[in-house]
Amino acid sequence: MKPSPSFPFTTLSIVCPIRDEADVLPAFFARLLPTLYATGETFEVLCINDGSQDATLSVLQGIQQQEARLHLIDFSRPFGKEAALTCGIDHAKGDAVILIDADLQDPPELIVEMVQTWRQGFDTVLAQRVDRSTDNWFKRVTARGFYRIHNAVSDCVIPIDVGDFRLMDRRVVDALKELTERHRFMKGLFAWVGFKHVLLPYVREARHAGRTKFPWWRLWNFALEGITSFSTVPLRIWTYLGLIIALCAFAFGSFIIGRTLILGIDIPGYASLITIVLMLGGIQLIGLGVLGEYLGRVHDEVKKRPLYVIREHHPKHAT
Ligand code: UDP
Ligand code: MG
Repeated sequence: MKPSPSFPFTTLSIVCPIRDEADVLPAFFARLLPTLYATGETFEVLCINDGSQDATLSVLQGIQQQEARLHLIDFSRPFGKEAALTCGIDHAKGDAVILIDADLQDPPELIVEMVQTWRQGFDTVLAQRVDRSTDNWFKRVTARGFYRIHNAVSDCVIPIDVGDFRLMDRRVVDALKELTERHRFMKGLFAWVGFKHVLLPYVREARHAGRTKFPWWRLWNFALEGITSFSTVPLRIWTYLGLIIALCAFAFGSFIIGRTLILGIDIPGYASLITIVLMLGGIQLIGLGVLGEYLGRVHDEVKKRPLYVIREHHPKHAT
């Protein structure tokens, strides 16, 4: 077996999830590769092509001709960013793994500082956005609200304004690989494994080219994934809500019986009756919906399907 260019000692594994980023990739590698050379470390770059429809694959193959330390893993169809990250983590051989977006919103130059910080003995180095002005108002407000709610209802705390851009020591990566669940909210999984972390501030740049792959509906589903994967509070709420409603119904029932006994039978009451029936019907449907969210996830977990399917892996001996 011919050893891979980075075999057997690789210090840094860079994992880039990529979907339809052909316009950005030349500029991305023009900044990433000199940075990696500057670190003086041995490295490999794992590019996970998440079912791109544009010229991403051929652009990556072109760059691979120039830089043999670039590994290309091509998915059979789009499986999503979380699956792409998982695939990169599964295949990384380095002592430290760095996750970075390919759209240049995560400045590659920060990697030098990340590596220096890791060398000081930190297990995880997290890049923290100090300026989100490139995100629109809606995304800023909803992101903040989501992390507040998530951290309030789940056991593990996700640091504010920290995305996937991070360096993880091999110890952290090995712990992450033990988490085999299908529904992968990576930021939650990262927080769940714990370890000693440090925050490195950076300014989030605007997307170099192309469009975000996370429109608001996908973000909403992503948020639901985050909460349901790490908290059962939404399920338990219904016990308490049911209890409160039952107590109110008992009080109201007693009031009506008492009033009928004292004042006699009262015919009017249609408005209050229909309001209560509709309200209870609505509440029950919401409760069923929440149950459904969890049941659907249990259904997906028991099927134990693989998280991704690889169409091709270059170089092949790297698998
Ligand atoms: N991405 C991916 N699969 C997806 C969505 C995104 O591989 O289904 C990649 C994308 O190519 C980029 C990174 O994940 O490198 C971040 O995506 P994006 O910039 O669209 O997210 P945003 O920065 O808007 O949150
Ligand atoms: Mg982006």
